[in-house]
Amino acid sequence: MEIAVIGCGYVGLVSGVCLAALGHKVTAVDVDIKRVESLRQGIVPIYEPGLSEMIKHEVAHGRLSFAIGAAKASATADVIFLAVGTPPAKGGGYDLSYLFDAAKEVAKAATGPKTLVIKSTVNPGTGSKLAAHTSHKIEIVNNPEFLREGTAIQDFMQPDRIVFGASSPEGIATLREIYQPLIDKGYAIVHMSRESAEMTKFAANAMLAMRISFMNELSQLAQVIGADIESVRIGIGTDARIGPGFLKAGVGYGGSCFPKDVQALVHQMKSIGIDPLLLSGIEAVNTRQKNAFAKRILDVLKDTPNPVVSLWGLAFKSDTDDIREAPAFDIIKALLEATSGKITIKAFDPQAIENSKKVLGNKITFSDSVANATTGADAIAVVTDWAEFITQDWIKIAKLMRGNHVFDGRNCLASGKVSAAGLFYHAIGRPPLKPGDIRPGSVGVVSAG
Ligand code: NAD
Repeated sequence: MEIAVIGCGYVGLVSGVCLAALGHKVTAVDVDIKRVESLRQGIVPIYEPGLSEMIKHEVAHGRLSFAIGAAKASATADVIFLAVGTPPAKGGGYDLSYLFDAAKEVAKAATGPKTLVIKSTVNPGTGSKLAAHTSHKIEIVNNPEFLREGTAIQDFMQPDRIVFGASSPEGIATLREIYQPLIDKGYAIVHMSRESAEMTKFAANAMLAMRISFMNELSQLAQVIGADIESVRIGIGTDARIGPGFLKAGVGYGGSCFPKDVQALVHQMKSIGIDPLLLSGIEAVNTRQKNAFAKRILDVLKDTPNPVVSLWGLAFKSDTDDIREAPAFDIIKALLEATSGKITIKAFDPQAIENSKKVLGNKITFSDSVANATTGADAIAVVTDWAEFITQDWIKIAKLMRGNHVFDGRNCLASGKVSAAGLFYHAIGRPPLKPGDIRPGSVGVVSAG
């Protein structure tokens, strides 16, 4: 099948290359000329494990190419995927202008019947609005994307399920044809109406964000009463009714999806007169969690003149260079504001330094390694759970520091190794450890540090 994918961002590039790997002839399109030109030269503008190699492979086999502007690719393609951004709008909800602009371009270029697949996340009802703006020859279907940055290729090629949202048998048949190789491998397909598919994506992200906020809220209680939220996580996550995913307490969620999707859902419900009682709390908890982390660092360092904090991690999660809505930025802002800029922040991230420099300029110091970021620090704040941070030699790290405090904002470090190195260990919702302490009661708790 000939497919055009509009938008060469995280979702567009991953979908495009994976659709090519399923045997389709794919043209990936963007309005960003520089982006397309660098892709044509084999330079992939985002960091996603395995993506660059896979793009090279599909291009070499003639199944993937890149183009500027949607017109030409849409004219020849049978199916056009829309994977453009749907960022938050100023007044709340989504800014759907990129989606509508791209759809208009596709409709203008189309000479015969086409299927337009909405991959971007949109609020329920968007497909119908789009249909009102395009010709009846264009069948609009929804096929929400559930990939996670960092494991995006695996998520696309080995999905838990693929959701088809279409109001006609023809729409479903086209989607089936596209995904037939995955259907043949036994991956589940769920058919539903377009509105239900749009809402399924919303519901999935809100549910996952809610689980994180739920644990973050409980972590505040655990912190005070001396319980260990990691033990609680395992205690409830092993209950088959609850399941283990997205129960890790931390500094709060970020990224281009959870914050904006929860906000958009709240906005849409309010706009139709339904008070989103539960959903409104998700974001409030998330904001409090980031501020509480910064406050704990400030409390511990309050008597340290000209404190130096080594910040490990800027990306919103590990294995990506994406810094959109990353908690690190709110934490940095809170630290700088509370100290009127008198704190020195030395940050390191394996992939997100370049993106972060564009946002933060010289407000903080960027380091090229964990060791350089740590040298002379009074405290370390781990904000992203990169594998490289988890496997550090804490004896060596302790020697590089001026002070002796480690704040584990992801509950990802081996706490006993940190305290054995002579450091204070402060986690989220876990009893703190003093130098030399071992964690009591963690015997038999698998993977709780
Ligand atoms: P992105 O910002 O990384 O990429 C969007 C791309 O679309 C950009 O390169 C932009 O230049 C391009 N674009 C904009 N208008 C265009 C037009 N008219 N023609 C051609 N190209 C155009 O965004 P993303 O992270 O890939 O997200 C895309 C959508 O997928 C969003 O709706 C997002 O909510 C959703 N989503 C994202 C993820 C994720 O993890 N990033 C996961 C699931 C769903």
